Amino acid sequence: MGIQSIGIVGAGQMGNGIAHVSALAGYDVVMNDVSQDSLTKAVGLIDKNLTRQVSREKISEDEKNAALGRISTTLKLAELGQCDLIIEAATERETIKQAIFEDLLPHLKPETILTSNTSSISITRLASRTDRPEKFMGFHFMNPVPVMQLVELIRGIATDEPTFKACLEVVERLGKTAASAEDFPAFIVNRILMPMINEAVYTLYEGVGSVKSIDESMKLGANHPMGPLELADFIGLDTCLAIMNVLHDGLADTKYRPCPLLTKYVEAGWLGRKTDRGFYDYRGEVPVPTR
Ligand code: NAD
Repeated sequence: MGIQSIGIVGAGQMGNGIAHVSALAGYDVVMNDVSQDSLTKAVGLIDKNLTRQVSREKISEDEKNAALGRISTTLKLAELGQCDLIIEAATERETIKQAIFEDLLPHLKPETILTSNTSSISITRLASRTDRPEKFMGFHFMNPVPVMQLVELIRGIATDEPTFKACLEVVERLGKTAASAEDFPAFIVNRILMPMINEAVYTLYEGVGSVKSIDESMKLGANHPMGPLELADFIGLDTCLAIMNVLHDGLADTKYRPCPLLTKYVEAGWLGRKTDRGFYDYRGEVPVPTR
């Protein structure tokens, strides 16, 4: 039968994007979060983003309505138990993810595949705490999910071939491209991207450049579509810090030391776009650098 239904845990910026593309590809989607506010916002955003796709003639009004009709939301994790595939996309903290899988296990069908959208946490370790490490994988989407083409598929040590193939089929049905990565800290994209972002924060911290000059330098000098600090705000500074900590702890190399200024922004609750302030202040008409 293959995978027909997808349960998504966490309705933040990644969860809502994953729900959007899954429903559009014809999967039944159940989205869960601990916050009703996050669920309500997620459905509103999906509606808005689908409407934008209609106005750009990428999808029809009927396709939009059908996709919205396939998405349901719940505060009860147990209601995801009957899904064929779970994609966990909650906050990047290992204790949170472990607790989610622990709570979910008693409600699952034996054949359900478990995956995590984690940017950096060990898939093997998350899998080992479940009753089905062979049916556990990393399913790592890029942000914004409806726009970005890549999905990293990460096998844990125990992941079996049917599980990998089933996930690969989902990636293809979503119209995306899979890259297979081994289960080492931060996998491929973030192993390369995050040290660059962290270095940009050090460049700011040491006074080598301002927010504006650093971002402009990388856009105009290296042809990056976004500056590294702008990109950090877009990803979320808490997520960036969490990934640097995983690289630092997991590879035990001081070159991955998170910049103290990144830590300071997170301590201030200035997490980037999602809190309206990070390296830029987004509360006005145009983003204004905060340093
Ligand atoms: P976010 O902060 O936007 O959303 C996280 C959501 O998880 C929130 O709505 C929160 O209420 C919810 N949550 C927290 N604890 C929960 C629980 N116990 N049960 C259910 N929901 C819970 O974060 P995000 O940027 O969407 O990141 C989510 C995951 O995706 C992380 O693992 C992150 O590393 C990964 N990721 C993020 C990006 C990115 O660019 N932001 C890219 C790829 C992967």
